[in-house]
Amino acid sequence: MELREIVERGFEGKAVVDNSKITLGDIADGWLNCKRKLGLKYERSPAKELTNGERLRIYNARKVKENVLDIIEKGTESLGGRFQKVSADLFPQADYDLLSLLSALIELDGTRYGVCIFTVREGAFRYIDGPKDTHQLMAEMVLYLAGGELDYVVVYYADREGENGVSDPFLVSRNDQRAKSALGLLEEITSNPGSTSLPTAEISLKYKPLKNGDNSVEIVAWQCERCDYYEVSCPGAIYSKYLGLGVLGKDVAGEGKFKPDKLKEKVEEEHVEMLSRLIEDALTRDRLRVLSWVCEVFFGIEVQDAGKADS
Ligand code: SF4
Repeated sequence: MELREIVERGFEGKAVVDNSKITLGDIADGWLNCKRKLGLKYERSPAKELTNGERLRIYNARKVKENVLDIIEKGTESLGGRFQKVSADLFPQADYDLLSLLSALIELDGTRYGVCIFTVREGAFRYIDGPKDTHQLMAEMVLYLAGGELDYVVVYYADREGENGVSDPFLVSRNDQRAKSALGLLEEITSNPGSTSLPTAEISLKYKPLKNGDNSVEIVAWQCERCDYYEVSCPGAIYSKYLGLGVLGKDVAGEGKFKPDKLKEKVEEEHVEMLSRLIEDALTRDRLRVLSWVCEVFFGIEVQDAGKADS
């Protein structure tokens, strides 16, 4: 019995997640992915307990970040630059937990950078070609909160397993308008408490082209699958029993309509209508995304993404 407790006891105090403060990561996640999640964090709603594996991952990630920070310190100083670790009192005007994101400030050739280090799985490392959406937004918020004290944020990714080392540096510049909108979401939530009235995450669709030009449709709710509140404090965008069911119907070519051919066999009668509506909504949004992408890439016209228009 005592042997079994060794690992549990050893973890104590080592991979603790401080849920008492809203982080910039929570705000970015709320603005880009799920407003309700931010509301639940603000209300300190019950969440899933971390598993042994998740705690080890957090612990390892922190160690890797510390090591990369040492490397950046040495590299910056040997190039004649200045390096400073970020401390709690550096940005007294910010109420948010900046320390969980911003690791250091460096100055090189007269340019001032904030340094953010993220860790990723080995398998995900090779797909990195720039900051992820949430990381880009977090960096923009850092620049906004720094109020002119920083010229750029530089984002590095480190392979948690170590094999691939550290990524190229990715520079993020100011986008105060986006940063202010995202920070405004927290103000909106704190002045109107009640997370259940906030919208849930959106479901996404997985298509596979069929020979006749139609697309088979599967539903995915990756935000919920990774969310600590899923089925503890929130039912999610879709019930977990309906995840991983495979093909549920077709997006019929030319008609722009979802045809639920397998849906009825796979879900309970009372949920068929609700799920059909969810998929039909998601199809409409996805089509707008494709359209805005075509406008931007081929015609240089910026179209507001309907999925984010009310964020
Ligand atoms: S379970 Fe899904 S909808 Fe609910 S808070 Fe989490 S991500 Fe949002």
